[in-house]
Amino acid sequence: MEKREELNRMIRYAQRLMKTKDDGILGDVTKVLIEKSIYKNPLINKQFNSLQKLIALIQFTALAKGIESGKIDGLIGSQTRFAFEQLIYLEKHSKLPPTWRAEDQVLGKTDSESNRHNPHGFPTYQNIENVYGEPASNLKTVQVPFELRLAWDKSVKVQKITCHKKVAPSLIGVLEDVLEHYGYDRLKELGIDLYGGCFNHRKMRGGKKLSTHSWGAAIDLHPELNQLRWNHKRALFAKKEYEFLLESFAAEGWVSLGVEKDYDWMHFQAVKL
Ligand SMILES: [Zn+2]
Repeated sequence: MEKREELNRMIRYAQRLMKTKDDGILGDVTKVLIEKSIYKNPLINKQFNSLQKLIALIQFTALAKGIESGKIDGLIGSQTRFAFEQLIYLEKHSKLPPTWRAEDQVLGKTDSESNRHNPHGFPTYQNIENVYGEPASNLKTVQVPFELRLAWDKSVKVQKITCHKKVAPSLIGVLEDVLEHYGYDRLKELGIDLYGGCFNHRKMRGGKKLSTHSWGAAIDLHPELNQLRWNHKRALFAKKEYEFLLESFAAEGWVSLGVEKDYDWMHFQAVKL
């Protein structure tokens, strides 16, 4: 239901962009207009289907307006979702929203017990380079203990992920515990296998600093139902069935922004607050 609604909003936005009636239906007229709009755009893959082209058009529009929208891949991932909300705000208010410092707020100290538990000596953001080096350095590609599905294209199976070499053993350890506890069928049912990305050299969503993903020291799981600004009332990982998942990360010293800050429940990082 929510997904259809989201798609509908995106179609209507693209229709307004192309100055046609915004009925939210990807019909023939809209398809022709999309073809026209992207025809000379070298950044948009002409092999995409109509819907992917429409999403790509939105991604390109965001990019052109200085909003970080990730790859122009025609897929709706968290970055696209975030960029889209910025575009809607821009359309309404003729300016970008004030920076909402999602992951940025992690700079504020937290005194919780789970944040103090630090068996592997993970750094805080302030001393991240002393421990992990420069962004995008010391990376390692590792086999995951169970097959993941790419969250925004579930037909894509992921067997290996790239993260910082210092966090790899504990991350694999968490995934092994999770597999042992839930079993593969159950964890798949719970969507714990829906992979939203690990290493990704980018800024924090809604912030200006580099995300902890830039060091490969963070992983996102099941982004669709743990969206950036959702709190525990909406986020899936705040539900009881996921307690073990949260505890496993905490036991290895990983920080859940959901637990600590009550937003971005998809996000776990090997960086202390
Ligand atoms: Zn994240």
